[in-house]
Amino acid sequence: MVEPRSGLEFLPTYSVEEISWPIRLDANESPYDMPPAVKARILEKLSALPFNRYPELTAHSLKTTIAAGFGMKAANVLIGNGSSEILEKLCYAFGGAGRSIVYPSPSFSMYKIYVKLADSKPVPVALNADYTLDADKLLEAANQAEASVILLCNPNNPTGGVLPPEQIEYIVANTGSLVVIDEAYHEFYGKTSVDLLNKYQNVAIARTFSKAYGLAATRIGFLLTSESIAQILGKVILPYSVNALTLATAEIVYTMRQEYAASIAANSRERARITTALSAIDGMTVYPSQTNFLLVKSDNIAAMLEQLSAKDIGIRDFSKVPGLTNCIRIGVGTPTENDAVLEALTV
Ligand code: PMP
Repeated sequence: MVEPRSGLEFLPTYSVEEISWPIRLDANESPYDMPPAVKARILEKLSALPFNRYPELTAHSLKTTIAAGFGMKAANVLIGNGSSEILEKLCYAFGGAGRSIVYPSPSFSMYKIYVKLADSKPVPVALNADYTLDADKLLEAANQAEASVILLCNPNNPTGGVLPPEQIEYIVANTGSLVVIDEAYHEFYGKTSVDLLNKYQNVAIARTFSKAYGLAATRIGFLLTSESIAQILGKVILPYSVNALTLATAEIVYTMRQEYAASIAANSRERARITTALSAIDGMTVYPSQTNFLLVKSDNIAAMLEQLSAKDIGIRDFSKVPGLTNCIRIGVGTPTENDAVLEALTV
């Protein structure tokens, strides 16, 4: 009998319904294609890429480009196959058997899986009813569990809310755990905890190109942290985990990141527009969001789900998930896609 390693039989498989919705607002992707100038540079670069060669061993070129953007050294940057790889490896490297990892709940559903893959114990800490965080409660849980890692998602997926900067610093300053701040939606928010890296040794900040930079297809993310944490993590990220096409693409996108200002501004405008319109619907609560999605709660969630699916609009249904009862997450799409959402829900 072929047996998996112990514990794997209880691990849930990450699954989302993969329906090819004509209007896809279910995965927090960018609804926009690349800015044409960026695309032209990428295609030119890829056409000359030596496909027969392995990528750069440590992605040094992209690390250097990103480090320069933050006034840091390449040694402070790690590149991963999506920020998913980085978060998973952080749990692996700083977790392990008998250790605990704390994170607020609800938050990004993959955290629990990363923690379990690291053989660590997940310690979710419930957010308040309005999805704000009680920092003392989180610190108390981390303290009790002697947590090796605290995962914070800021802005938070799927609630869309943010942690005040002073609350993040309060957590970092009052724990010996490694505090990982997942800033996947940073560009839509504008604020960051990067400055904490100058002051504290127990901080790591994860970013992705999958959201504001619309590179979900290429799988690329990065981490900013101390040299010593980066060095440890570098041991568990396999060589060549990010392919050369992706590295070349991300380097151009990062260098030309000002080209994305228009789509980020469009997201803010559209987010405000649909927040106002949806809030006016009877029985609907729209949570404040600093991201490219909205968490919406409705007294009449079943009808809402039907109305959206009847109009071929894909959203993420959390209505049966504990802590998110009667909630769905709707991505902010293009103005036309958002009109379709409003039309579907205001009939
Ligand atoms: N963190 C958060 C909060 C996310 O929402 C996501 C994607 N849904 C990720 C990390 C992973 O992103 P990626 O692996 O595409 O970089």
